Amino acid sequence: MPEAALTPMMQQYQRIRRELAADTLLLFRLGDFYEMFFEDARNAAAILNVALTRRGQVPMCGVPYHAAEGYIAKLVKAGRRVAICDQIGEATPGKIVRREVTQIVSPGTISDLNLLDAKRNNYLAAIGLHKKQIGFAYLDTSTGEFEMTELPDAAALEDELARVRPSEILIGDGPQRQAIPLDLPSVVECDGYLFIPEQAEHTLCEHFAVQSLDGFGGTGMTAAIGAAGAIVHYLKHQMRRQIGHVTRLKVYRRSSSMIVDAASQANLELVESRGARDMSLLAALDRTLTPMGGRLLRHWVLHPLCETAPLLERQQTVALILEDPALLNAVRESLKGIRDIERGLGRLSQAGGNPRDLLALKNSLDQLPDLRARFSPLATPRPGEQPSLGPAIHAALREFPELSCELERALVDEPPIALKDGGIFRDGYHPQLDEWRAACRDGKQWIAALQQREIEATGIKSLKIKFTNVFGYFIEVTKANLASVPEHYIRKQTTVNSERFITPELKEMEGKILGAEERSKALEYELFGELRTRILHDSVALQETAGAIGLLDLLCSLAEVARLFNYIRPKLHDGLSITLRDGRHPVLDQSLAEEKFVPNDTELDGVNSRLQIITGPNMAGKSTYIRQVALIVLMAQIGSFVPAAAAEIGVVDRIFTRVGASDDLSRGQSTFMVEMNETANILNNATERSLVILDEIGRGTSTFDGLSIAWSVAEYLHDELKARTLFATHYHELTELELTRKGVKNYNVAVREWNDQIIFLRKIIPGGADKSYGIQVARLAGLPKRVISRAKEVLGNLEQSELNADGKPLIAEEPARLSAARRRAQNRENRPQLSLF
Ligand code: ADP
Ligand code: MG
Repeated sequence: MPEAALTPMMQQYQRIRRELAADTLLLFRLGDFYEMFFEDARNAAAILNVALTRRGQVPMCGVPYHAAEGYIAKLVKAGRRVAICDQIGEATPGKIVRREVTQIVSPGTISDLNLLDAKRNNYLAAIGLHKKQIGFAYLDTSTGEFEMTELPDAAALEDELARVRPSEILIGDGPQRQAIPLDLPSVVECDGYLFIPEQAEHTLCEHFAVQSLDGFGGTGMTAAIGAAGAIVHYLKHQMRRQIGHVTRLKVYRRSSSMIVDAASQANLELVESRGARDMSLLAALDRTLTPMGGRLLRHWVLHPLCETAPLLERQQTVALILEDPALLNAVRESLKGIRDIERGLGRLSQAGGNPRDLLALKNSLDQLPDLRARFSPLATPRPGEQPSLGPAIHAALREFPELSCELERALVDEPPIALKDGGIFRDGYHPQLDEWRAACRDGKQWIAALQQREIEATGIKSLKIKFTNVFGYFIEVTKANLASVPEHYIRKQTTVNSERFITPELKEMEGKILGAEERSKALEYELFGELRTRILHDSVALQETAGAIGLLDLLCSLAEVARLFNYIRPKLHDGLSITLRDGRHPVLDQSLAEEKFVPNDTELDGVNSRLQIITGPNMAGKSTYIRQVALIVLMAQIGSFVPAAAAEIGVVDRIFTRVGASDDLSRGQSTFMVEMNETANILNNATERSLVILDEIGRGTSTFDGLSIAWSVAEYLHDELKARTLFATHYHELTELELTRKGVKNYNVAVREWNDQIIFLRKIIPGGADKSYGIQVARLAGLPKRVISRAKEVLGNLEQSELNADGKPLIAEEPARLSAARRRAQNRENRPQLSLF
């Protein structure tokens, strides 16, 4: 549509629209509605399920102003960015009112607590390329946490993305975008210029008010600096945010924590589980009481450590807390009263915040003196003992007596959410405010007295003085009494049953009251701003305190879980052996209702028992057992106690898990290729220090193919990589490996047959399973009797034909057809494009 043909209002719309990125929805304030036009209207109508209408030729849809919040939330949850354009200033006749974008909301930059998951960070990330390095940075605008790193390749980037799970990702347009071939959700393409290291460094130095970034330890990380700078620029200039609460930029290196790739994270159900009930490890460990603690625990679960020193420090802290149950209870009691200090600060800084944010902060600060006192037994280092985190936590936990006092003096007991309607501050807080409030109160009393006077003067008993927003104060007289209305009343309005009048003296007082009210509201708004500035002045100390609270809460949560479920402190060492006595699966151990969880021992030593082949019927407990070992190791490497009677754990550098295709239906992909990709990843990256969990690999293809692959993968792990491996499989043939290889040990899950029934004992015992009991399991599942008995017959025939002339099984040490399969596989090894074998 040519611009000249548009109304001035639509021209204004087009101008504002042009300044926004194409995929941002523009909500344009028109009277009592926010309207969307053109493509925006079509998109939004579908997401919001509201009617699409037309204004002339232009498609449009709108949402009422007073209910906009809910609609905006819905759009953002659907992954859209929303620009809110408001009317600025008063309308003058003949001119259109000025409008401006006052706020842009996007999935990665939400500050509204109602839209955020308290126990999960919400990250805005950026990916920048420079000199073959991938720079990766992410910022939680709601808390101010800001981190950056550099990654060598796309696979590493994928792992980081799986851990961080940003809600929004910035990428430079053009070549940058093309160089990152990942299929990413909610990508925002930005001007590539923002990612240029010099430009980005300038942006960052300006934001942090520093000369150089050396103090952050990011020297030379040009790609990472590019990404971090792009985030700051985007927030300040495109999103128009105030981000004073972002006071630090942390550099991290992947090598400092254990990499848990995306597949392993999912397979082990670390932070999310597949079923409806949350059966994740995180849920089992989470007894945190504050959002800060909840978020930190999640971070720890996704970033286990590989070095023993910091782990021992964490363990020691948990141990000291556990030793003193009274301290644990008391500290947890204080923690209960603490709200989301980090996000509260974030809101005050970015969005301005509201009086309730101040109240939440005050309530949290009020807990600090008690919390510190209760924790103080752990504040001093104990000579001769393992160092703990106690002293550092105690030092970082500050008290804010003045701020606390100020908030106490300032805020009424239950301040409103709205900022502009006053009622926030206590009487006595500010003399001018008191004066105006008194003027208001006096005025209202005067009006009450006036009503009495007028009743007496006119003799109309039902005369009332009322107030509405539209008309202000007026005298209301019912129709029956109109005859007694005095001359000097000025008629204003007629309603069904009454007439409304004013008098000059009433209007004069109204002016005084409304003026005082107006002024006191404006003053409250101003005072709120001052208080907010005062709080933000302490941002750094408050953030540090919030961090210490999170850490303390998390450690108490680990202690609490250890106390509730009888966990023990694992002995960590740098050797290769993993020994568990009576280990339990941390999630099932808590959740099994009827059955009691049966504990099992584990002995992996890197030499004589490096690769365990675990066989046994379906449903016996193979998958549970191998995951339990992985989870116990992972728990030990976040510093937690573990569900076992005794544990000695040689720290691992990575945990790999692979679940065979047919066991993995919930992922709903054509899975054999996925399975092989993930297996390739393991074989290319596992080391002697890794722990590998393989669950039924090779299932997604024909039996012989699958068996051959499983066989050669097992050999490769044992012979070449020497990684500690637990391999659950239904291929009994694999147990033959034990005969020829020193480090292979066979185990099976004990079952007992009774009256042709099968009873699961859940005990892992040495040796391979002799039968697969598939038919018994089928019977348990309720297959018709005839099918069961026919299956037995067929099985009998098959077993007969599998025996050769001297009665030995066909599959001996390495059967002929397997050798052929292996030769085929080995041939493939020489082909460069296949990295699997
Ligand atoms: P498999 O992999 O051998 O088919 P699973 O490990 O999936 O078997 O276990 C099947 C079910 O058996 C689990 O869902 C759990 O309820 C139960 N189970 C497994 N191990 C144990 C155990 N050690 N103690 C009690 N119940 C167990
Ligand atoms: Mg299984």
